[in-house]
Amino acid sequence: LGPTITVGEILVEIMATSVGEGFRQPIDLVGPFASGAPAIFTDQCARIGGSAAIVGAVGADDFGRLNVDRLARDGADVSAIAVDPTYPTGSAFVRYRADGTRDFVYNIATSAAARFGWSEAVETLVAKAGHLHVMGSALSMPSAVAVIDRAVRIVKERGGSLSFDPNLRKELKYDDDTERRFSELVAMADLLLPSGEELERAAGVAGREAAIDRLLSMGIPEIALKEGARGASVFTPGAEPLHVAAFAVPEVDPTGAGDCFGGAYVACRRLGSSIEEALTYACAAGARNVTVRGPMEGAGTRAELDAFIAATGRAGP
Ligand code: ADP
Repeated sequence: LGPTITVGEILVEIMATSVGEGFRQPIDLVGPFASGAPAIFTDQCARIGGSAAIVGAVGADDFGRLNVDRLARDGADVSAIAVDPTYPTGSAFVRYRADGTRDFVYNIATSAAARFGWSEAVETLVAKAGHLHVMGSALSMPSAVAVIDRAVRIVKERGGSLSFDPNLRKELKYDDDTERRFSELVAMADLLLPSGEELERAAGVAGREAAIDRLLSMGIPEIALKEGARGASVFTPGAEPLHVAAFAVPEVDPTGAGDCFGGAYVACRRLGSSIEEALTYACAAGARNVTVRGPMEGAGTRAELDAFIAATGRAGP
C-alpha cells in the first residue's frame, strides 16, 4: 500500500492566551507547540494508524527537536525531515480576535522550513509512497513546490493516489505560478478536502452547489467538504451527498481542525474504511482537536477517537 506522504512546513506555534487585536503590544503567550499544516496532518494520520511521513526541514534547534520528537513519538516516519545547520525552525504566532478570526505572524520564508530540497531520503520515501497529500499552504515555499511537483509526478506514475487540501493562507506570499499549479492539483486530485471558501476557489465558480457540480463534472471522484462547527459532507459522482453532523464540543482553539480532519479521513480511507466511517472519524478528529490549545495537541489515536465518539453528542443538524 505504501505510506501517505506530505510535503511542507514544519513549525512551532506560539499563541496568545487572550483574545485581542494583533500583536502591537506585549501580551502573554503560550507555546511552543508542534505545528505546520502538513505536520498536523501527518501526526493525525499516523496517530489513527495510517502509515504517514512528511518531507520538510527544521533547524538544528530545540523547536526542531520538539517537532521531530513529537512526530516520531506519534508513529510518523521522520526520515525525510532534514535538519538545516544554518537556518532556524519556522514559527507562527497566532492571536484570536473577538469575532473569531485569527491573526498570524509567520516566520517561514526565512526559516529552515522554506529551504529543503530533493535528497536521497526524499527519493527513498517517494519511491515507496502510495499516496501523496498536498496542502495549499506549502505552495508559498518555492523549495517545497519543486519537491511537490516531482513527487506528484512520481507517485501518480506509479499508480499512487493524490489528495489536495487547498488551504492557501492570506498571510503567505504565493508567486505567479501558484494559480496554475493550484488548478492543476485540483484537476489531478483523487480526493479534494476544501472548506467553504476554498471550495468555490477550487471550482472557480461562486455558490456551493455550483462549485460541487463543477468539481464533480471535472472528474474529481471524491470531495470531502469541511463545514466547521456544522460537521462535514462528502460528495461523489452519481451518489447522494453524505453529511455527518459535528460533535458538540466547546471550541477552545480552532487551529488544526481541518488538518486533523484530513489526516484522519485520508488514513481511514486508505485503510479501507467506507466514506461514512472515515467521515465520522475525521469529524471526531477535528472536533477533539478544537477542545484543547495547540494545533495538534488534540490529535487522537483510534482508541481515543473511539472513546470520544462514544462519549460525545452531536451538534446537529
Ligand atoms: P479548517 O480548519 O480547514 O477551516 P474546519 O474548521 O471546517 O476546517 O474543521 C474541520 C472539521 O473539524 C469540521 O468539518 C468539523 O468536523 C470539525 N470541527 C471544526 N470545528 C469544530 C467545532 N467548533 N465543533 C465541532 N467540530 C468542529
